[in-house]
Amino acid sequence: MTAFADLRLSEPVLEALREIGYEKPSPIQAQGMPPMLEGRDVIGQAQTGSGKTAAFGVPIVEYVDPTSSDTQALVLTPTRELCIQVTQAIRSFGVKKNVEVVATFGGAPIREQISRLRSGAHVVVGTVGRVLDLIDRGALQLGSCRFVVLDEADEMLDLGFLEDVEKILRRTPNGRQTALFSATMAPPIRKLADNYLYEPEHVKVKADTLTVDSVEQFRVEVASKDKPEKLAEVIAAERPRQAIVFCRTKIGTDRLYRLLKDRGQNARALHGDLSQGQRDGVMLAFKGGRVPILVATDVAARGLDISTVTHVVNYDVPRSPDTYVHRIGRTGRAGASGRAITFVESKQTREREAIEEHIGMEITPWSAGATAVRGSAPEAPAPAEGAVEEAPAPTDDAPADASEVRRQKPRRGRKPQINRDADEPGTRIVLAPGTSAGLEVRDLVAAITEATGLDGEAVRDVLVLERFALATVPAANVDEAVDAINERAGGERPLYAEVLVPR
Ligand code: AMP
Repeated sequence: MTAFADLRLSEPVLEALREIGYEKPSPIQAQGMPPMLEGRDVIGQAQTGSGKTAAFGVPIVEYVDPTSSDTQALVLTPTRELCIQVTQAIRSFGVKKNVEVVATFGGAPIREQISRLRSGAHVVVGTVGRVLDLIDRGALQLGSCRFVVLDEADEMLDLGFLEDVEKILRRTPNGRQTALFSATMAPPIRKLADNYLYEPEHVKVKADTLTVDSVEQFRVEVASKDKPEKLAEVIAAERPRQAIVFCRTKIGTDRLYRLLKDRGQNARALHGDLSQGQRDGVMLAFKGGRVPILVATDVAARGLDISTVTHVVNYDVPRSPDTYVHRIGRTGRAGASGRAITFVESKQTREREAIEEHIGMEITPWSAGATAVRGSAPEAPAPAEGAVEEAPAPTDDAPADASEVRRQKPRRGRKPQINRDADEPGTRIVLAPGTSAGLEVRDLVAAITEATGLDGEAVRDVLVLERFALATVPAANVDEAVDAINERAGGERPLYAEVLVPR
């Protein structure tokens, strides 16, 4: 199959795909969409980067009836970050059909999510705990839910959510269509599939197809005690625009982060011991380009889809070849080229060999300025160039992705021209701080209107979270509005704004 049109998708969905720059289906889409569209249950073995979100998201929006206000599809995700990304993606597929997609995740006020559900959510994307909570409160009604997707089921297993997943599945109609996506099929996941999926079609994309050919891969032989020095050398020689440095453990992540800080590096750490607010702050700073180095554990970095990452450093060799492929897939995105550098201790030769066998080539020894053979050409297309910046309509909501932020240079003292009509497109902006500074929705609206000269109605969908807030302003005015807000940031109540770039 060569085109989305061959799948007989309806015109509004095809149009949305064209606009976000998806020209032809990736392998997981080519294999997974037809059975999904036929109404069959599906097991998809694929990871982030393969295009799996569209493999289930497009069939969902194809079948959603926007004239009914019932919740017709539920997508469960292990983490809040993935929840946000999936929400944005499905929203972009369904934008021409007016499909309402609502994200529900822990760490954000439940009341706002309940009210969004009340006002109609055709598709609900949620983390396991929050979804269960919403069902228990009677806020999420699943009586008409005809699709259920379990995304990254292996992560749900690792995080201990499988029991809750089963509870949720038992609350959905028996006649539902179920899809389960997982990078690996550990026995508990297989069992879950056996119990809850009906004669599923099994589709699989080889992991090494994720090794995009835009990533140059290197290894550095180093003794454990010399790793910090070596890292400093690698960073000095490579001068990454943005790098993710992977460690195996939370403690190791924190230790390395402190060490880099002590040496004056502008780095941040991301791991499971941070509070949600702290994680938001780190994500926002990194995705916004303000921090060049992120030290992270595998779980914490899951779902990070950032096109500006130029380097991945495996400070600790990954636990498995799959993890290696997954980690290095964080760079070389959206048409950019990337470099992956893996530290290997002498006792880890076996692990290195397993990775090399998995990716089907030897990893080049690193030296300053070295070039390497790139990975095999992927079957999956790299994300279309421009897909990140030119996604269509302004997406709504999506707090943790408050992170895909374009930096703005404040321009001097101009107020935006107000020129809008009722359905004019809006652009999402992210503002800081949030409720932690005592800000409420009305404060935010007042601050924006005061600074920009926009009227209150022009500021829509305001969502205030702990450390930051989101609002939609008319697209035509957005740059000037952001500048005007930042101009005033020195005042009594500092408020900073940036444009949230949709995926
Ligand atoms: P996913 O694995 O669903 O997280 O998708 C990985 C990346 O590939 C995202 O940035 C998508 O926007 C992009 N992508 C997915 N499918 C396609 C496609 N058919 N053509 C171009 N880009 C795609």
